Amino acid sequence: MVNIRDISVKCGHCGTYQTLAAYQRRGEWNVYTYECENDRCDPAVTRTLIEVPREIDEFARRDPEWRGGGRHGAQGGDSDA
Ligand SMILES: [Zn+2]
Repeated sequence: MVNIRDISVKCGHCGTYQTLAAYQRRGEWNVYTYECENDRCDPAVTRTLIEVPREIDEFARRDPEWRGGGRHGAQGGDSDA
């Protein structure tokens, strides 16, 4: 099992840890979007998408209602652009 909370995401640009900003489901994957929370990085450029297979995603199973089941994710990182 993987718990996204056990994973730290560090930005290669500014060197600080990114924070979890969005979550969405995509097929058999849970997609977590991490962004820098400072004025040094443009989130549109430095955001990180982490994809976890749903079967081993412990965090999503524990909090299935988090962020309204993922609709919030449409706000960030929804497209592949
Ligand atoms: Zn950064």
